[in-house]
Amino acid sequence: MQDKEYMKKYRSKNREKISKQKKEWKKRNPKKVIEYYKRENEKRKTSPEVRKKFLDYQKEYRKNKVEELKKLIGFKCLICGSTKIRFHEIHGKSHKTANYSYTLKHYKDFVPLCFKCHRAIHWLKFYGKKREPLIKQLLDSLTFQYYTV
Ligand SMILES: [Zn+2]
Ligand SMILES: [Zn+2]
Repeated sequence: MQDKEYMKKYRSKNREKISKQKKEWKKRNPKKVIEYYKRENEKRKTSPEVRKKFLDYQKEYRKNKVEELKKLIGFKCLICGSTKIRFHEIHGKSHKTANYSYTLKHYKDFVPLCFKCHRAIHWLKFYGKKREPLIKQLLDSLTFQYYTV
């Protein structure tokens, strides 16, 4: 019998190979995959312990991915310098469905913006051209106060 330590070493050495095998197995057995997720979902619903474990895992996963992305893309809003940021995709693409792996793969197409500046950028993209004279008029009527960030 192979011991745990051996299996652990084997898994860490062959991570890519194993994940490829898993992907292929999933492709060949779509029904089993659906059943597996159904069972897991059921477990999460019925057992608070399993649910907590899953949520903790998800939280940790998100945190790690965000840290990784911040290192690549930046952690300060390009406009106001706030560090509470999200990642905005440039080149005018809609990035509603961009998930972590997509963002990681295309990190050069993303910039850090805080919630407010991000909203403003999308708003301007949507209404900017149509409402340009009005926006210009309103901006000119403002007295700006500049803050250092
Ligand atoms: Zn900002
Ligand atoms: Zn955006």
